[in-house]
Amino acid sequence: MLILQHPSLPSCSTELHIGENLLAEKLLVDLCQKQRVVIIADAAVKDLYGTDLAKRLNAELLTIPSGEKAKSKNTQENLENELFKRGCDRDTILIALGGGVTTDLVGFVASIYLRGVSLILIPTTLLAMVDAAIGGKTAINTDFGKNLIGTNYLPKAIIADLKTLATLPEKEWLNGVAEILKMGLVFDASIWELAKKNSKSQELILKAIQAKMDVVEQDPTEQGLRRILNFGHTIGHALEKIAHYEMSHGEAVAIGCLAESHLSMHLGYLPEKEFEQIQSSYNLFSLKLPKNYTRQNLFMAMSHDKKKAQGHIRFVLIDQIGHALSFDGHYCCAITEKQLEATLDWMEKNYG
Ligand code: NAD
Ligand code: ZN
Repeated sequence: MLILQHPSLPSCSTELHIGENLLAEKLLVDLCQKQRVVIIADAAVKDLYGTDLAKRLNAELLTIPSGEKAKSKNTQENLENELFKRGCDRDTILIALGGGVTTDLVGFVASIYLRGVSLILIPTTLLAMVDAAIGGKTAINTDFGKNLIGTNYLPKAIIADLKTLATLPEKEWLNGVAEILKMGLVFDASIWELAKKNSKSQELILKAIQAKMDVVEQDPTEQGLRRILNFGHTIGHALEKIAHYEMSHGEAVAIGCLAESHLSMHLGYLPEKEFEQIQSSYNLFSLKLPKNYTRQNLFMAMSHDKKKAQGHIRFVLIDQIGHALSFDGHYCCAITEKQLEATLDWMEKNYG
């Protein structure tokens, strides 16, 4: 087992435990120290791991629906009401057991319920382990867009039990791999190399978690460096929106990373050879633009991007595998529709 101190706020230390069979060990019992514990899991994860864990911790177990739709005001309110009905007070510990939907939603509720109660995150998807559970961002979605309401709230502990990944469907696995490849492209070429060799190795997962922690530590409030994590997501998010979220996040981010690598090359930053190498490494993914894709739809969807400035869409760009350009510490650059044209031509020709 590896224990890392979560770095994002040194005064508020989150313990990060990564290893196999952690759910079966005494670790969680010790962390909960006889406090009242409420585990919240989505329906699928409850059956797989929730019921057993609740028994072991003598905890209460609540269920939320599975899927992105559960990250809503409605689920948030139901959860809060259930906690009130049960008389949960400030000494209650909430445990989020599941993927990023569960860790984001439960993290948000924990941060506001009675102005904040203790939180433990147990991510059970690859994406939640390497991305969603690390860094303290919580969120729910609204009718106006994804993740628009949320807080920054650090958990008391994050426990990544790698054994839980054994039941993860391949499609969900790929969502995590897309984020790991992105991390390799913008931050650490050794992650990229490892991911190409074996996308399931534990060494790779550990490195990806460490990389996310490093980035968050250097820029906890997303003023600069942390923006590199949006690589592939400017186009990726827009594609998901066009597809009404019927395209998986991993597939959208994979096309997004390819397109934004192409843009980096087209603007003269990324050598052509490196771009070709990148292109040949995404064959795990089925790369297909959504059926109702049009260029107009894409621009419309991108116009709500959080990084937009003065009418221009801003992109994270790379100049080599493992390195994003700093642009004076902003880590993104305004791009005109004209500058994007060649990249969109390329994307439509290859994946349309
Ligand atoms: P998810 O939570 O919906 O989980 C995906 C599916 O996998 C669900 O159906 C779930 O029931 C199932 N599942 C979970 N663990 C399993 C296991 N061990 N075995 C079998 N099935 C399992 O989705 P996700 O991909 O984990 O997370 C996506 C969410 O994360 C998005 O809402 C995104 O906005 C959020 N996110 C947040 C951050 C952040 O910094 N807070 C970063 C990245 C992503
Ligand atoms: Zn993502």
